[in-house]
Amino acid sequence: MPDPRCPVCGQPSARRSPGERSAFPFCSDRCRQVDLARWFGERYAVPAEEEDAPGDDDATVTGQG
Ligand SMILES: [Zn+2]
Repeated sequence: MPDPRCPVCGQPSARRSPGERSAFPFCSDRCRQVDLARWFGERYAVPAEEEDAPGDDDATVTGQG
């Protein structure tokens, strides 16, 4: 198994010390923040669709008006 690479910058994120594993799998804490910012950015960019319930059997269509 090859060494894990940072999903942000692509550099090898080799674990040096047990204490630095907080940023894993990122190479550094900075890249970790960048990845988080991306996630938040996408959440705000895409329209909020909060419909986790499958409810496909409900074919109730409300008329417009
Ligand atoms: Zn990185």
